[in-house]
Amino acid sequence: MATKIGIIGAGRVGATVAYTLMLSGLVTEIVLVDADRAKAEGEAMDLADGTAFTGPVRIYMGEYADCRDASIIVFCAGVGQRPGESRLDLLQRNYEVLRDVLTALMRSWSGGVLLMVTNPVDVLTYAAYKIAGLPAGQVMGSGTVLDSARFRHLLSLYTRTDVRNVHAYVIGEHGESEVFVWSKATIAGVDIDEFCRRRGIPEPDREYIVARVRRAAAEIISRKGATNYAVSLAVRRIVEAVLHDQHSVLTVSGPLDGAYGLHGTCVSLPSIVGANGRRQVLALPLDPGEEAALRKSVAVLQDAQRQIGL
Ligand code: NAD
Repeated sequence: MATKIGIIGAGRVGATVAYTLMLSGLVTEIVLVDADRAKAEGEAMDLADGTAFTGPVRIYMGEYADCRDASIIVFCAGVGQRPGESRLDLLQRNYEVLRDVLTALMRSWSGGVLLMVTNPVDVLTYAAYKIAGLPAGQVMGSGTVLDSARFRHLLSLYTRTDVRNVHAYVIGEHGESEVFVWSKATIAGVDIDEFCRRRGIPEPDREYIVARVRRAAAEIISRKGATNYAVSLAVRRIVEAVLHDQHSVLTVSGPLDGAYGLHGTCVSLPSIVGANGRRQVLALPLDPGEEAALRKSVAVLQDAQRQIGL
C-alpha cells in the first residue's frame, strides 16, 4: 500500500526525519517542502541517491499541493533555539511560520495526521489544532516522547538494564516545566528503587537525572548547534505507531480533553497512538506532587498561548 509522508521544513530536523523514515521501510513516498527550495531539493537529491541501499522510496522536493494525499504531515519548519534561548522564546517567530504554512497546506491537503515538531511544540500543536480544523486526535506534537526516551536512557545507564525494559514517562510541557513521573517508573514490573535494591546497586540520583534530561537539548545545542537524531527517531516511532495502527503508549502532545479536569491547551500525557493519531489519553493515577506539577506546567503553556492570542 502506498504511504506518503509530507515533511514541511527540510532543515536539520526535517532532513533527518526523512532519513530515518527512508531507513524504516514504513513509507513509499516522502515529499520535502521548504521555503528554501534549493535546500529541500538538495536534501531530497542526496537522500534519493541512497535508495539503492534501502529499497524503493520516492523522495523529492515539492510544493504544498504535492502533500494533498499524504497520510501524515510532519511539521519541522521554523527556527530552532540559539544557545541560551528557551523553547518558549521561539513562539512568536514560529507561530507566524505555522500560520502561513498551514493556511497554504490546508488548501490542498485531504487530511490525515498532522505531527508537530517545531518548538515550542505544545503551544504550536494547540495553534495547529485551532488553525487546521482537524479532529483533535489527528493533531499531535512529538511532545515529551523525546524527553521520555532521554529519561529511560539515563535510568537504563544507572540500573545497567536494557533501555527497552525501562518504562518511565515525562509528561506536561516539552520544556522547563515538564514532569517526571517517578511514581510510575518501573523495570520488570517493579519500581526503580526496588529494582536497584534487588540488583544490589545504588538508587538513582533523581535530581541529577531530572537536570540532565531538562538540560539535554541546551547541552547538545551548545556543542553542535541543534538536536536532530533522537528527535527524528522519536518521529519515526510515532509514524510507525500511526501507520501500523499499533496502539502504542507514547507521550505525544495533544489537545486536553478533560483528563485531570484540564482543558484548553496541549500537553503530553501517555496516550494510545494508532491509525488516525491519538486515540485515547491515559489519565494515569499520579501522586499529588506530580499532579500539582502537571497543573503548573499547563498554566505555563496557557500563559504562553495568551502571547499569541489563543
Ligand atoms: P533548521 O533551521 O535547521 O530548519 C528549519 C527549516 O525550516 C529551514 O530549512 C527553513 O528554511 C524552513 N522554514 C522556515 N520558514 C519556513 C516557511 N515559512 N515555510 C517552509 N519552510 C520554512 O531548524 P531545525 O534544527 O531543523 O529545527 C526545526 C524545529 O524543530 C525548531 O523549531 C526546533 O526547535 C524544533 N525541534 C523540536 C524538537 C522536539 O522534540 N519537538 C527537537 C529538536 C528540534
